[in-house]
Amino acid sequence: MPPKDIAIIGAGLAGLACAKTLAAYDVRLRLFDKGRGPGGRMATRRVEAGGHVLNFDHGAQYLTAHGPAFAAVLDAARAQEWPSAGRHVGVPRMSSVPRALAEGMDIDLMRHVTAITGAPGAWQVHHLDARLVRPGHPFPTQTPEVDGPFEAVVLALPAPQAQALLAGPAPHLAGVLEAVRFEPCWSLMLAFPERLALPDTIRDAGPIGWAARDSSKPGRDASLELWVVQAGPAWSRAKLELTAEAAAAALLAEFAQATGQVLPTPYFSAAHRWRHALVETPLGAPCLWDAQLGLGAAGDWCIGARAEAAVDSAAALVAAIRST
Ligand SMILES: Cc1cc2nc3c(=O)[nH]c(=O)nc-3n(C[C@H](O)[C@H](O)[C@H](O)COP(=O)(O)OP(=O)(O)OC[C@H]3O[C@@H](n4cnc5c(N)ncnc54)[C@H](O)[C@@H]3O)c2cc1C
Repeated sequence: MPPKDIAIIGAGLAGLACAKTLAAYDVRLRLFDKGRGPGGRMATRRVEAGGHVLNFDHGAQYLTAHGPAFAAVLDAARAQEWPSAGRHVGVPRMSSVPRALAEGMDIDLMRHVTAITGAPGAWQVHHLDARLVRPGHPFPTQTPEVDGPFEAVVLALPAPQAQALLAGPAPHLAGVLEAVRFEPCWSLMLAFPERLALPDTIRDAGPIGWAARDSSKPGRDASLELWVVQAGPAWSRAKLELTAEAAAAALLAEFAQATGQVLPTPYFSAAHRWRHALVETPLGAPCLWDAQLGLGAAGDWCIGARAEAAVDSAAALVAAIRST
């Protein structure tokens, strides 16, 4: 019998797609995410600077649909083509795509899941206020909240984070995730006071993997000059432990050099480190599901380095859960 009480950890595209499909069945769902909003790496940073509200898509840049499931997600979110036919962006922000998927869902946001305990049929999910958790540091000593029992738990997280949570209840599943590898990415957000003499997109220029005039996307304020500059994997890996300030300065200098421009001083500049940005070595299976334990995992990392893979992986996991 398929499980009726399911916790989903992670409200990125994979977790949201799982929740959306499972909601059509008679299933009680709880969805947890450590972020302020759903969407994960389909992210938009909102800041106020220079008297403007600035939005930067500092995660995924553009989306392509090879199959009908992701095409339906893009359609429902009214994503528009940019920068060329067949490539899509969320409008007015990239995060509009996951937010459309999340519409009507009850999500426990700002909850950092720290452990899964219990036994098959009665799993417990431990979670803390995400503001208390500092990446790279041990979990704080505050007593976590515990929810459950759940018949099944779905981990819709990047593989290294899923691996950490599975190590206790399912070491064999955690072991399977060992082979999955991600590339990191330093992503730089820039607001300039004047237009740069550059095309809207630049790919593979020296250490820059991708740079885009974010303000040229449909539905954005075209009077602003906003850029997102993403370092390639080699540069990002070499500079991974820089502070965000040092990475921003170094990447801005690389951008100027790669484009041969004397850049005006930006009135806003900030760098974001994605430790697990794009999948380098995928699992090679569409999802992970142990029907005996009622534990499973889904995400882009099962299939490949693109957002569509997260949705396809979620569909595969739901099919596996339903055939239990
Ligand atoms: C810089 C960058 C550029 C990219 N460019 C593109 C592109 O151009 N085209 C493309 O198709 N794809 C691109 N991608 C990849 C795309 O963003 C991903 O494939 C997709 O968003 C993955 O979705 P997901 O649900 O599998 O994972 P995620 O989006 O990572 O979702 C995981 C969720 O789990 C949450 N979480 C993690 N740990 C915990 C915890 N312990 N407790 C609670 N919640 C937790 C996170 O907050 C997050 O919301 C890019 C990604 C990055 C970072």
